[in-house]
Amino acid sequence: MTTLAGHCHCGAIRVAFEPGQPLGDLPLRACQCGFCRRHGAATTSDPASRLHIEASPGALNRYRFGRRQVDALLCGECGVYVASVLAVDGHAFATLNVAGVALAGFEGRTPDPISYDDETDAAKLARRQARWTPTVLVETSPSA
Ligand SMILES: [Zn+2]
Repeated sequence: MTTLAGHCHCGAIRVAFEPGQPLGDLPLRACQCGFCRRHGAATTSDPASRLHIEASPGALNRYRFGRRQVDALLCGECGVYVASVLAVDGHAFATLNVAGVALAGFEGRTPDPISYDDETDAAKLARRQARWTPTVLVETSPSA
C-alpha cells in the first residue's frame, strides 16, 4: 500500500504513514481532552500500520500533561501538534494527528468524538500499547 506523507505547517517535522489496512477502515478520532480540543486534533492509530516521524534539528518540542505517560510532539517553529508518542521497553507507539500534518486520504471524514476520562492509568497504558501505531522517531542532527 502507498505510504502517506504529511508534515507540520512549516515542514520542520515530517511524517510517513504506511497503512496496514484500507484507509477507510482506519479510525479517525476526536479526543475530547482539553489539549486535543484546543488543537482541533483528529487522530488515527493502528497497530498494523507503521509511522515514521522525522524532525529537523531543534524543531521538536515535547509536552507532557495529565498522567504524563506520553509525549505530545509539537513543532517548535509553527506550533502544530503532530502526534503523541508512548515509549515502552525501547519501542515507540504513536497516535498521529492527521489534521495537524494534513495527511492525505482522510479528507471529508468527520472524526468520532471520544473521551478517555474514566480510564485508569493501567487501562490507558494497555489501550495505547494495543491500539497505537508502531513508530520510529528520528531527530536529524545539524550536520545531516
Ligand atoms: Zn512546523
